[in-house]
Amino acid sequence: MLPVSEPCITERDIALVNDALKSGWISSAGMYLDLFEQRWAAYCGMPFGIAVSNGSVALDLAVGLLNLQPGDEVIMPTFTIISPAQSIVRAGGVPVLVDSEPHNWQMDAGQIEAKIGPRTKAILVVHIYGHPADMDLITDVARRHHLTVIEDAAEVHGAEYKGRRCGGLADISTFSFYANKLVTTGEGGMVLVRTPEHAERARSLRNLCFQKQQRFLHDELGYNYRMTNIQAALGVGQIDRMDGIVARKRAIAAAYAEQLRDVAGIRMQVEEAWAKSVYWVLGVVVGESTGVTAIMLADRLREAHIETRPFFLGMHQQPVFQKMGLFQGEQFPVADRLARQGVYLPSGLTITDEQIVSVTTTVRESLK
Ligand SMILES: *Cc1c(COP(=O)(O)O)cnc(C)c1O
Repeated sequence: MLPVSEPCITERDIALVNDALKSGWISSAGMYLDLFEQRWAAYCGMPFGIAVSNGSVALDLAVGLLNLQPGDEVIMPTFTIISPAQSIVRAGGVPVLVDSEPHNWQMDAGQIEAKIGPRTKAILVVHIYGHPADMDLITDVARRHHLTVIEDAAEVHGAEYKGRRCGGLADISTFSFYANKLVTTGEGGMVLVRTPEHAERARSLRNLCFQKQQRFLHDELGYNYRMTNIQAALGVGQIDRMDGIVARKRAIAAAYAEQLRDVAGIRMQVEEAWAKSVYWVLGVVVGESTGVTAIMLADRLREAHIETRPFFLGMHQQPVFQKMGLFQGEQFPVADRLARQGVYLPSGLTITDEQIVSVTTTVRESLK
C-alpha cells in the first residue's frame, strides 16, 4: 500500500536523539528543549515558544490564555479537526462556526463579522491543508472588535501569507509535531506567543502551575503538558531542513497539478496569489456531476493499493456537539460538500515521481 504520508527521519536526527539520551536529560528539561523552542519561534517570527506534548493540548493552553468565562464565544471554521472546538468547549466557551471558501477551503473571513456578538472574545483561525487563511481580513475585523486572534498552524509549517510565515501572524499560535506533520517529534506541539506575560502563564499551565517561590503552593489548576528533551532533539534538526522540505512538498503538488490538469471533475486546493502553500496534504475534490463520491474514489484507489484519507467532517455534523445543543439548524454547505467529495492522496516526502504518475493514472481511470 502506498501510504498517504511517511515521516522522513535522517541519520542526523537519530544522532541528535542519541545525544539527548546520552546526556541524561531525558525528561522535560535540557538543551534540546530550549533550542527547539527558540529555533521554532524564531523560524515563525515569534518571540516565545512553549513546547508541549501535542498539538491538541497546545490549543488548550492557547485557549486558556483567553480566560474565557462560561458562555464566552470564539469564532472558528467548521471545516477542521476537532481539537480547536474541544479546547473551546472544555474551557467553558462556545464555538461559533463559519463556513469555508469554496476554492482554497479556508475559513470564509467574509462571514465572521455577522457572527460577532457581545460575548465574542476571539477568532481561532485554522489554516487548512498547508494553505494560509486570509489573515489581513481576519486581523482587520478582529482589531475593529477588540478580539484576540489565535492561529492553529498545525498544518502550515513553513507556509507563508504575503511573505510572512504562518504561526507568526496573530497574537498566539499553535503547532502540532505529530508524525504526519511537516516537522515531527513523534508526538509534540508548541504554543507561540508575543508577550512575556503570555509566555510565563503558558509555561505555568504546562507544568501544574508550580510556583517559583513555594513550589507546592498553587493559585490555579494547571496540566502536565510537558514535552521531553528526547522529542525536542528529534525536531531540532528538521528546522534546518525546512527549505528543502517545503520545496519538495511544493514539487510534489506541482507534479500532481500538471498531471491532473486535464482530468475533468477533479479540483485541487487553489493556491491564492498572496499565499505560499506547503501542501501538507494533497487534497482533491471530485465534482458532483461525475456521480463519484469521495468514498467511491477511495475504494477504487484502495484496490490499486493506494491509500487515501477522507476530508474533515464539519464540527456542526459532530454528534458530540449536537448532543450539547450546539449548532442547531445551522447550514454550512461548502464544508458539507468538501466532506462528501474530498480525499487526500499520497504526498509524503518519500513519494517518488513514478509513484505520483501511478496515482494520477489510477485517479483518471477511476473517474471513467
Ligand atoms: C494535527 C492537528 C491538530 C492536533 O495535533 P495533535 O498533535 O495530533 O494533537 C490540531 N489542529 C490541526 C489543524 C491539526 O491538523
